[in-house]
Amino acid sequence: MLRKLLTLLILVCLAGGILEARQHGYLENTSELFLKLWQGKSSAISEDRVENEALEQVNAVRRSAGLSPLILDTPFHDFLVHELGLAPKKTLDEILSAWQKANPCFIRVAALSIRSFTPAGVQKEISNWTEGSDKDYTHVAVVAQSGMGNIWQGCVMIVGERLPYFSPELLNAGTVTSYYSVCRLCGNGHPCSVQNHNQTFSLECPHCHRIYTILAADSQKQMHYVNEYLTEYAPPAHFPKALSRLQEMLLIWRAVGKICKYTLDPADPNNTTSNDPTDAWQFALETQVLGTGDCEDSAILLADWLHSRGFEARVAIGRFAERGGHAWVVTRLDGKEYLLESTAPNPRIDSEPFAIDVGSRYIPDAMFDYDSIYVRTDPHDIWDGKYWDETKWVRSQQRPRRAPPKSPVALELSTILQAKIASITAHH
Ligand SMILES: [Zn+2]
Repeated sequence: MLRKLLTLLILVCLAGGILEARQHGYLENTSELFLKLWQGKSSAISEDRVENEALEQVNAVRRSAGLSPLILDTPFHDFLVHELGLAPKKTLDEILSAWQKANPCFIRVAALSIRSFTPAGVQKEISNWTEGSDKDYTHVAVVAQSGMGNIWQGCVMIVGERLPYFSPELLNAGTVTSYYSVCRLCGNGHPCSVQNHNQTFSLECPHCHRIYTILAADSQKQMHYVNEYLTEYAPPAHFPKALSRLQEMLLIWRAVGKICKYTLDPADPNNTTSNDPTDAWQFALETQVLGTGDCEDSAILLADWLHSRGFEARVAIGRFAERGGHAWVVTRLDGKEYLLESTAPNPRIDSEPFAIDVGSRYIPDAMFDYDSIYVRTDPHDIWDGKYWDETKWVRSQQRPRRAPPKSPVALELSTILQAKIASITAHH
C-alpha cells in the first residue's frame, strides 16, 4: 500500500513538472534537442537567416510599439564579427566600450547574447528584451553564433543610440536637437545640444576649449556658417582709372556707408520697437536691395565687395566700447592693417584708418573670411589691435563650403536689384 502511494506521488510530481516545463517552453526545446541528437543530424539554419530573422523580430516589436525600426549599421556589424572571432575572447562589455571609444557618436549601447535550440527560442528572447524596444536606440548590429555542432544557435545583438552629425541642414529641418560634432581644430568629437536656432551661436570644443564654428540665421530663419554670408558679391560700380589701391579701398568703404542706412537689428537690446529675438543676418545682395542693415549686414557687404576687388578682408565680431556687441571690417594692404567701421554713413577718407589707432575701442572675439574663422588665442589677453598676428589668433578652416542659397527670395531680390539699376540708369 505504501509502495503504491509512493508511486502515485512520484507520477503526480512528474506530471506537474512536465506541465510546468511545457508552460515555460523548456520541454519543447528539450524534445527538439533529443530529436536532433536521435536523428544525429543538424537542422541548423544559415547564419544569414538567423541574423535576418533576429533583425526582423526586433523591428516587429518596435513597430507594434509605434517606434521607428532600428537601422542595420554595417561597420558596427563588421566590428562585432571581428571582435567575437578574437582569441582570447573579449567580454561583451569590453567589445562595447571599444566600439564606443572608436565611435563616440554612439552615446549609448546595450547588448543581448542568445543561445537556443530553436529559432522560436531566439525570437522569444528578442521579444522580451526591453532594450530592443527602447525609443532612443537608433542602430543595430547582429551576428549569428552557434555551438556543439549547431545543436544550439543564436546571436549577439547590439543596439545603440547614434547621434546624427551636426549640420545646418539638419538644424534647419528642426527634427532633432542632439547632435554629434567633430572639432575642426583638434579633431575630437563631442555630443552637443542645440535648442534655439534663431540666434547666432558657436560650437565650442570640450577637449581643446576653443570655438571652432559659428553660425547665424538669415531673414528666413535658416542657419548658415558665418563664412557662407560672404558670397563674392560686388555691387555694379565703375571705378575711376587712376585710383591707388588704398584710394579704391576707401572709396568702397564710403560707398557702403551710402548704400546701407544703419538700422538696429530687431534683436538688439537698444531696439525698443521690436521684441523679435531673431538676429537675422543679411547677404550682401539683400543689404544692397533693402538699403538698410545693422553692423554685421554692412560689414558683410563691405568685406564681400573688397574681396571681389582682390583685397584681403575679414569681418570681425566682438565689442565696441560703449555700444556692446558689434561687427566691423578689417583689411590688410601693403603690410598695414586697417579697421573700417561699416556703419559710418560718411566716413572720412582723407586719413588712413589704421587698426592700431582704434585698438582699445574695438575688441574682437572672432573674425571670419571666405573659408575660415579665427578666434583669439587668449580671449582674456589685453587686445593690442593686431588682426593678422598669427600668435594672437587660432584659425579653423570651415570646409566643405556650401554653395550660396539659390532660394526664391534671392532670385526675387536679384530681380528687384536689376529693376533698381535700370531706374537709376534711366534718371541719368
Ligand atoms: Zn577641439
